[in-house]
Amino acid sequence: MTDSPQNLSSTPKWQVPYIDMRLAFQQHRHALLARMEDVCADARLILRDEVEELEKKSADFLGVDHAIGVGNGSDAIYFALQAAGIGPADEVITVAHTFVATLAAIHRCGATPILVDIDQNFTMDPNQLEKAITPQTRGIIPVHLNGRCCPMTPILKIAQQHNLVVIEDAAQAFGACYEGRHAGSFGLAGAFSFHPMKVLACCGDGGLVTTNDPHIARQIRLLRNHGLENKTHLIQYGYNSRLDTLQAAILLERFDHLPFFLERRRHIARCYCAGLQNITAIRLPPSPEEKNTPYWDIFNSYVIRYPERDRLANHLRRQGVETMAHWWPPLHQQAALPFKNIQLPQTERIAKEVLSLPIYPEMTDSQVDHVIAALQNFPWS
Ligand SMILES: *Cc1c(COP(=O)(O)O)cnc(C)c1O
Repeated sequence: MTDSPQNLSSTPKWQVPYIDMRLAFQQHRHALLARMEDVCADARLILRDEVEELEKKSADFLGVDHAIGVGNGSDAIYFALQAAGIGPADEVITVAHTFVATLAAIHRCGATPILVDIDQNFTMDPNQLEKAITPQTRGIIPVHLNGRCCPMTPILKIAQQHNLVVIEDAAQAFGACYEGRHAGSFGLAGAFSFHPMKVLACCGDGGLVTTNDPHIARQIRLLRNHGLENKTHLIQYGYNSRLDTLQAAILLERFDHLPFFLERRRHIARCYCAGLQNITAIRLPPSPEEKNTPYWDIFNSYVIRYPERDRLANHLRRQGVETMAHWWPPLHQQAALPFKNIQLPQTERIAKEVLSLPIYPEMTDSQVDHVIAALQNFPWS
């Protein structure tokens, strides 16, 4: 008997872990196991009902015509670029302040990632974007980081003026809105991830591509399944990158709780903003209370800034609070990647200062209070 809930390790190392995926499972254990049982007992394993149902639900929720389940968020970006016809000799503009998968997807197309700086909200700075456009530029990947959308109105305007394809990296933004529209509904295509660290998470890897373009939708369906239109009709070479039916079943269960997950994250963000606003040495993200803003953030991460980030992280660790620094060093300074002599001053400053605090629906109010108290008792100044 190793799998009963009582026997799971009951001595967490952290008073407030950065995330607790075990709890995310425990809280809906029976419903999740019932759905898994249902899929496995009937051997509905590859591209079956649950995948289609999840695609339909996601498309309706996000306000797009098509949603296609794929193996992971990285392939979602790659397939979207491929379907858009991005290839060798093309330049695609994106940011260095992102997960490496964004750049790798461009590289996998044989295209060149061009990196531009970010603004105070950690997302692409539209002014920098315009300056980076060359005759080779074919596309833009805005990254909706931490559950906040990029400023899509100016980005789409620039894209239109220069006839560029926009593929949204919405891996961290399932449910986030800008001017009343959902992340993933602005560009030619949007790419989502269901990785366990994301807002809508499966028990392993999973991803989704969204689009309003039927040609792109068809291409993604071909790419994810060996280029096969049906069991025998081969259209082109493709890949094996389908969303598992088992993962889709898990996601369908969690989809019903999504409004609660998002509201709970926004509630915790509200508590952090209220409880930390007196600490003038740190910079907080905009509060969900903010009025007259085009943004509706879903706080995939709650990221604060402080110049002595590592000292603060060590203090929090001693108080039992686990934090993360997303990301250090910034990608354009990673020795393994081919970005020498690029300067991105905001990205570099921000990468030194960012600290992600725990934020997830299963976190208790007293854990939120503990994080706030731990920050309050740091020897500021
Ligand atoms: C998680 C993530 C990805 C990759 O998603 P996977 O499902 O892990 O492949 C891409 N971009 C960003 C910004 C992410 O956070």
